[in-house]
Amino acid sequence: MILPPKSNFFLMAKLNLKGLSQSAIERYVVSIGEPKYRAAQIYQWLYKYRESSFEDMTNLPVPLRQKLSESAEIEQFPVSTFQTSKMDGTVKFLYELSDGKKIETVLIPPRTTAVDADERMTLCVSTQIGCALDCKFCATASMGFIRNLSTGEILNQYLTAQANSEKPITNIVFMGMGEPMLNYDNVMSAVDILTDQNGIGLSPKRITLSTAGYANHIRKMADEDRKIKLALSLHSLRSEVRAELMPITKKFEVEDLLAALEYYNKKTKKSVMLEYIVFEGVNDTEQDVQLLVKASRRLDCRVNLIPFHSIEFTNPQGYSAGLHGASKEGVEKFWQQLRSHDVITFIRHSAGVDIDAACGQLAVKEERLLVNH
Ligand code: SAH
Repeated sequence: MILPPKSNFFLMAKLNLKGLSQSAIERYVVSIGEPKYRAAQIYQWLYKYRESSFEDMTNLPVPLRQKLSESAEIEQFPVSTFQTSKMDGTVKFLYELSDGKKIETVLIPPRTTAVDADERMTLCVSTQIGCALDCKFCATASMGFIRNLSTGEILNQYLTAQANSEKPITNIVFMGMGEPMLNYDNVMSAVDILTDQNGIGLSPKRITLSTAGYANHIRKMADEDRKIKLALSLHSLRSEVRAELMPITKKFEVEDLLAALEYYNKKTKKSVMLEYIVFEGVNDTEQDVQLLVKASRRLDCRVNLIPFHSIEFTNPQGYSAGLHGASKEGVEKFWQQLRSHDVITFIRHSAGVDIDAACGQLAVKEERLLVNH
């Protein structure tokens, strides 16, 4: 590849600083003839003070601010629309990206009625536009895979939601659109900035990554000693049932996943969350209880039972059309059975159901493929 001469480089395109690490910003400031320490100041403005205009970076000399605005830019998201749930105050943001593609991000306020009500504001962040995995119960599958989000686009979901929220966002879950493990590098670069005290400064304990089951990346997270929390969307321990629900099971078998989680437990000394939608007659049998009991003796884990959120608006067909969530009583019965065998288990509360913002309901309608699942 022939690179353009250095002096012309910035005439061609401005460098987007949003998403860059401090060391990448250092390389940039040095390239424009400035001392390295300016990078730390710019980095703090971008992430700690959430500033998006060079002009307002008041501890930088005016000529430098001018130079920055000539050669660099700070990408921002205009919020296209947002909807607020009348049931629980959940907010669903629809962001338009610079290439015109759209993504959704969900801000979930604390439950005022919960016994453990606290000031927790949780942001559910997307990592890809659409998703390739084709899980039969998930609306995002109806979009197919469009592209990975950049580190800046992942961070901008937080920065824009925070700018529109009166209360501080305390928790992040990578449970929006897409499979985070298939965009591992960009997601982890975003995590580094989210958890850096000179960056956004959130505690890693308040960030959860959820995967459909990439055993190799689970091991990688353990090897890298990542401090964030890990969740696995399990949904069944029976290979044939899980393969119907989640085709990724053909690549990483149930046993591969359990072995990877065991490795993760041992290596990081951290517990994992197993996510389990209870489907009536599919994964709520006595055999399923026994398999979960066995798995929870083998692993350091807790099981979160998730109510199935309807994906009817995507017009499911085939296997998807036959999936029905267990009733409230059915979920409670399953929970009781697990508890009676000392499995640590909780029933997860749904948020934003009335605005299609609950787990698995994210699918930008304009981006949907004309195929039915
Ligand atoms: N790809 C990642 C993260 C996105 S899905 C993963 O699979 O974990 C986030 C969570 O929502 C997962 O636990 C997923 O299984 C769950 N989910 C998907 N569709 C759902 C639905 N219709 N009802 C309830 N939960 C759903």
